[in-house]
Amino acid sequence: MKTVLITGGSRGIGKAVAMKFAENGYKIIINYVSGKTDTEQLKKELLQAGAADILLIKADVSNSEDVKNMVKETIEKFEKIDVLVNNAGITKDNLLMRMSEEEFDKVIQINLKGTYLVTKEVTRYMMKKKKGSIVNLASVVGVAGNAGQCNYAASKAGIIGLTKSVAKELASRNIRANAVAPGFIETDMTNVLKDEIKENINSQIPLKRMGTAREVAELVYFLGEDASSYITAQVINVDGGMI
Ligand code: NAP
Repeated sequence: MKTVLITGGSRGIGKAVAMKFAENGYKIIINYVSGKTDTEQLKKELLQAGAADILLIKADVSNSEDVKNMVKETIEKFEKIDVLVNNAGITKDNLLMRMSEEEFDKVIQINLKGTYLVTKEVTRYMMKKKKGSIVNLASVVGVAGNAGQCNYAASKAGIIGLTKSVAKELASRNIRANAVAPGFIETDMTNVLKDEIKENINSQIPLKRMGTAREVAELVYFLGEDASSYITAQVINVDGGMI
């Protein structure tokens, strides 16, 4: 039975990814940090959807001790991690001239450093099994840039560079790494935008709407699974044709 570790799996895209893997009988490790979600309820939903087993782990992906303990606990319970989805991420938007060092550092630490820490710890075990698939959540703004998001866009561009490098380093060990770059997706992260801004964004998207978390999850699942066995070091947009 296969296992998947999803960071930031408690809400939004991460939760939709967890549901998709659950429907396919995976053992699922959900990482979260704030406790905003009723995790026991989430566990029930995932088991109902078909998950073989669930492990819920509270850990900050930007804290190396937390990450080591999370991966240790996972290996002790499930012995292996077949698929890693680095999904945990935050925004702290501001124009460059107003952006504080704290806002810049926090976003880089969680989005980029967090991806590095979890990837490093998990691939240790994937290398022993000589098999694994890593899917990292980047963003179209990491490819195209976005006014008011220089910290977030830099973190996502960093994730793309990290993904391609890791893919090249680990290909000989049969470990693949790819990035998914969503456009605007309906989650808590985008709910904070004013309706006027959302309408403006939608008008610029060829498909004329925001995407759903499920539409991102479908791509993440494909890249995590053997159906994509000859795809590595790629960035795939899921953005309604936006860029
Ligand atoms: P979201 O609804 O805000 O959920 C964020 C998730 O990340 C939550 O599960 C949260 O856990 C977790 N998290 C935050 N900080 C963490 C930390 N330090 N350690 C561990 N977990 C942490 O976000 P989303 O919209 O689903 O986005 C998911 C990913 O897709 C992010 O990487 C985001 O940048 C990317 N993305 C989103 C969009 C979009 O339009 N929504 C577009 C492009 C890319 P708690 O529940 O415990 O707080």
